[in-house]
Amino acid sequence: MISLRTVLATLSLSLALWPGAAHAQRRARDAQAIEDGVERALAHEGRARRWRHIVLHHSATPGGNVAAFEAWHRSGSRRFALGMAYHFVIGNGRGMRDGELVAGSRWRRQQQGAHIAARLRDEQTGANLAAESIGVCLVGNFEHAAPTRAQLATLRRLVRVLRQRYAIAAERVRGHGEVHPGHTACPGRGLRSVRRALGEEGADSTASAARR
Ligand SMILES: [Zn+2]
Repeated sequence: MISLRTVLATLSLSLALWPGAAHAQRRARDAQAIEDGVERALAHEGRARRWRHIVLHHSATPGGNVAAFEAWHRSGSRRFALGMAYHFVIGNGRGMRDGELVAGSRWRRQQQGAHIAARLRDEQTGANLAAESIGVCLVGNFEHAAPTRAQLATLRRLVRVLRQRYAIAAERVRGHGEVHPGHTACPGRGLRSVRRALGEEGADSTASAARR
């Protein structure tokens, strides 16, 4: 005779094995991993700067990682003494894990980035845009390839947390080309999928106005 306990054990086992349940569990685990990754990456030394903008970039390279961008930005024509221009990099599986978020030294030390031209001004306040902008680089060339789903999932979480923490308005989340029209197409055609993925986390109305 089959005991009630056996029946219950079999039932819970089959529930756990049910593909839908496994899928939901995996999604919950993935979401938790993204949240934990963002939380870890946001740690910094000392007091936070007064961040008011988020500027999104692509690396315009097929792959890459923080070490490569560090070396690249310290050498060549740029010679940035403070190293990598961006505050955050989100990997695409080529050089970094897909969707992996890493903070650069400029974030850890709360230093101004070098990811946009130093002379740009906030249209509303006249403040120096570079001094107040968090630079996020998604690895990849979005003229040729779309951002990965994992990159977009990490970006969505990062933007949400940054916006909450620093009270950054949605219309102040923009692509590089939107804050510097005519200068760059960065982050390329991928901006559209970025915008879609960000939904209400990212700007659209003022961004299209800025593009004109
Ligand atoms: Zn850019």
